Amino acid sequence: MTDTPDALPPVTPPLPWQHAAWERLLASHDGGSLPHALLLAGLPGTGGERFALALARYLLCAAPAQGMNCGECKACRLTAVGAHGDFLALEPTGKGQVISVGQVREAIAFGSQTPGLGRCKVLLIAPAERMNAAAANALLKTLEEPPANTYLLLVTGAESRLPATVRSRCQVLRFPVPAAEDCLPWLAEGSDVELARQALSLAAGRPLRAAQLLREGEVEAAMKRRAAVEALLAGRAPAPAVDAALAELPLEAFLELLARGLQDAVRALAADALRGPRGHALLASLDEVHGAARAVAAGANPQPELARATLLGGLEARLGERAAGAKLRSVFSPVTRL
Ligand SMILES: [Zn+2]
Repeated sequence: MTDTPDALPPVTPPLPWQHAAWERLLASHDGGSLPHALLLAGLPGTGGERFALALARYLLCAAPAQGMNCGECKACRLTAVGAHGDFLALEPTGKGQVISVGQVREAIAFGSQTPGLGRCKVLLIAPAERMNAAAANALLKTLEEPPANTYLLLVTGAESRLPATVRSRCQVLRFPVPAAEDCLPWLAEGSDVELARQALSLAAGRPLRAAQLLREGEVEAAMKRRAAVEALLAGRAPAPAVDAALAELPLEAFLELLARGLQDAVRALAADALRGPRGHALLASLDEVHGAARAVAAGANPQPELARATLLGGLEARLGERAAGAKLRSVFSPVTRL
């Protein structure tokens, strides 16, 4: 059984930067006050799902040791291969990548059964914001009065997209982006520290995203893509060249990269420049990119080449207008120039 290719390692500890939250949760479990409905909220790539998995395996384990699942009991062997009858994980399915009402009904039926191994049952829903409205509604009553010995663990990377009715029925545990020093030793294990640092910067401080970049050998390519966006924003590269440099990226990743570049450019402006033409152009572009990202997250499926060219071209034009406008003003009213 341990040779199954997809099997988890015997023990799933929390990640190093999650230890404080983990200790608090274990203390409330020991005191009999662990909430039955937990919402683990943190940006994707910060480890919310891993925390939930560690907790699920801990709760189901027959003999947890040193604050972790033991890795040896029957329950641990079953959770390692996803075959534990008291553990159900809901994830998005189908073309729309939603968690459907049918899945939630199945989960409710699961919750009403007696635990097979006698300890408790754990239902994991990740990412919870992928539940559609009907699914979220169907879950409300169970969240309000979870069956005895059942824990509901909801993981979300977009807390604000969850209905307030769901949020208010859970105890929310928020995971901020960890400090670099708390995750760099973990990230740099078996790799170069400087490379790990670059990966973490590219991933906006999200360690699991950074680890993925390192694993895929993508750090250098990602640095080049970031430089391409910076060049466009600085007026050093034309939109078509930047478009070509980013052509490999899926649309969602492209939007994230562009938003990140715009945010950095906005941050680099002094407060008074923020109210000036460049500030306006950057903020308007950022709004546009956020709007596009929201539309994609909500299921819009635009042609990627067209969306990319439109956004980059629009951005270039806006920043170009700013340059032209500044030139005009400098000609007509040099006194107002700061
Ligand atoms: Zn165990």
